[in-house]
Amino acid sequence: MLSQILFPVRCPYCSKVIDSSQPSCRDCRELARPINYRKVLESGYMCVSAFQHEDVWRHSVLQYKFYGCRQFYIPFAKTMAELIKNELTDFSSYSVTSVPMHRKRKSERGFDQVELLGKETARLLKIKYKQCLKQTVLSNHEQHSLTRSERIDNVKGLYRCAKPKYVCGRKIILFDDITTTGSTLTECSAILRKCGAEDVLCVTLTVS
Ligand SMILES: [Zn+2]
Repeated sequence: MLSQILFPVRCPYCSKVIDSSQPSCRDCRELARPINYRKVLESGYMCVSAFQHEDVWRHSVLQYKFYGCRQFYIPFAKTMAELIKNELTDFSSYSVTSVPMHRKRKSERGFDQVELLGKETARLLKIKYKQCLKQTVLSNHEQHSLTRSERIDNVKGLYRCAKPKYVCGRKIILFDDITTTGSTLTECSAILRKCGAEDVLCVTLTVS
């Protein structure tokens, strides 16, 4: 494929060019195996993360998010598909959505890294992806610059359900890239519940 030549898929952990059907190069195979780190969010839903936000995993997620390694969504989605298969025996009855990015931020960055990851993972699992949430208010503060209690206040009222008909009565896998206090996922999963979601499983690449 021409895109494979122009934009080769690289191993997120060592940057070697890899076969796009693999989550990493052969040498980094163990690093790409998700540990399924679980925590219960304040909304009562489970959040499962592939890796701790440290060392090579932290580095690779930051490269993806901030430093132009957009193609990492391809190997990362392989890892997330494996995580979801391990977590949900009935994953085919779920559909995927993602924590949205405000349109201003998206146009600054040029892409929504969480949406890309969620869409590709849904494609691999042969389930639907739909963006059901919208960030309507731009926060004055980046979450990572705040304390735990400030983070909870900071996300209140930033999001709303954009597709209530699609959410009602459905089981949803909600994607984010990194979770720390879980306040963003708590807020977004509570909105999905309010719109009638039957179940929500939150998943992230890393947890810190
Ligand atoms: Zn590698």
